[in-house]
Amino acid sequence: MNLHTFKKGGIHPPEFKITARREIKEVALPREVVITLAQHIGAPAVCAMAKGDRVCRGQEVAQAGGFVSAPVHSPITGTITAIGQSRNAYGQLVATVTIAADDADHDADLKAIAGATPVRTPEQAMAMEPKEITYIVAQAGIVGLGGATFPTKVKLSPPPGSKADIVIINAVECEPFLTNDHALMLAHPDEILEGVKLLMHAAGVERAVIGIEANKPDAIALLGEKAKNFSGIEVMPLKVKYPQGGEKQLIKAVTGREVPSGALPIATGAIVQNVATAYAVYEAVIWGKPLMERIITVTGPSLSNPGNYLVPIGYPLAKLVELAGGVPADTGKILLGGPMMGRAITNIDTPTIKGISGVLMLPQSMSERAQAEPCIRCAACVGVCPMGLQPYLISTHSRLGNWDDAEKLGVMNCIECGCCSYTCPSSRPILDYIRLGKMTVGGIIRARQQKQS
Ligand code: SF4
Ligand code: SF4
Repeated sequence: MNLHTFKKGGIHPPEFKITARREIKEVALPREVVITLAQHIGAPAVCAMAKGDRVCRGQEVAQAGGFVSAPVHSPITGTITAIGQSRNAYGQLVATVTIAADDADHDADLKAIAGATPVRTPEQAMAMEPKEITYIVAQAGIVGLGGATFPTKVKLSPPPGSKADIVIINAVECEPFLTNDHALMLAHPDEILEGVKLLMHAAGVERAVIGIEANKPDAIALLGEKAKNFSGIEVMPLKVKYPQGGEKQLIKAVTGREVPSGALPIATGAIVQNVATAYAVYEAVIWGKPLMERIITVTGPSLSNPGNYLVPIGYPLAKLVELAGGVPADTGKILLGGPMMGRAITNIDTPTIKGISGVLMLPQSMSERAQAEPCIRCAACVGVCPMGLQPYLISTHSRLGNWDDAEKLGVMNCIECGCCSYTCPSSRPILDYIRLGKMTVGGIIRARQQKQS
């Protein structure tokens, strides 16, 4: 079969999908959660509550701090015991709210979960105005669950003059090791399709495509069969190629359209949402459930109990790692996310947040960097760059502080996929320098815009 994919660049790293097809394990509801206020792109949520206030399961703890922001909710009933700061996974202090449950709170939550009923039927939901669906999505604190955590309501509110004609569901999961989306698709295909229908209704489009890489044939078959009952929804198997889960690459693979440099994806008429986001939309609209839990793949070659865990937001990361067998003795690096785009962390005494798709414990043997050698001008990094950039040149200009040149060469178009560093035979830290360039040039551009306005 001739499978769709994006054309420029890309690589095929080993998959290491250790936890593929493992059932979702639900972690027990904790007695205490720590809710981080900034767990999305945009302004942090704002908490107007005080220590000693009572909170119910599903209640908003802090409201959105602006248009590009999202509220956060408590997954447990309890009392606020602290409003202050905690260390995030990278060791930085961030604003948090701690909620603790007593025995009665805990029992009440377990009973409420067991006896939960939908707040409306899918038919009733489809009879609502699109803006009412978007409002529920905003109130539920739903953000992109592929890792970007961009507030979903913003994507459903295109800027004036833009119009969507397709919703693309990102079910690609091209990062090695991660299987949380795959597990979700096998467990909840009907709910995902209902969520896609709601997203189409909110966006005012007649067509949706669920893009799934061909290494998940069971999910393609299951969703493809069920999608026959949903008008306008199609499942598209995609060639296995990293970074197909990148928004621009997925739009290209599915529609053949190119997002212009510096433009938003909506410029192509496409709204891209992660498959777990579609499921969260279903839960919010049909069950009245805000985003207060997610599936996290906890994995690594030496881990004794790796798996796909359904975890309340605010759950202790260290406890989750314990459930998966604890940090293996040979661990060299712990990453949040996959090995390609995930970030190494320094602290597991931190709560889970909406953007954590995976916790990866890499053994020392897989996490050591080889000694960087001089560039041999082989152009391998150019060939694999999905954005058509010249990574060796941009990284050199960034290393030398030639910010004008880095900008002219399109440093801001880099999607930080890491294909260049992965491929370089000289083990050059290409992406590290490009990230430095993006940060600096981004600051220069913002300062220039401020001066002009
Ligand atoms: S990290 Fe940036 S420069 Fe390197 S391959 Fe990816 S998009 Fe290109
Ligand atoms: S892949 Fe490495 S060695 Fe080859 S051109 Fe790029 S930076 Fe230089």
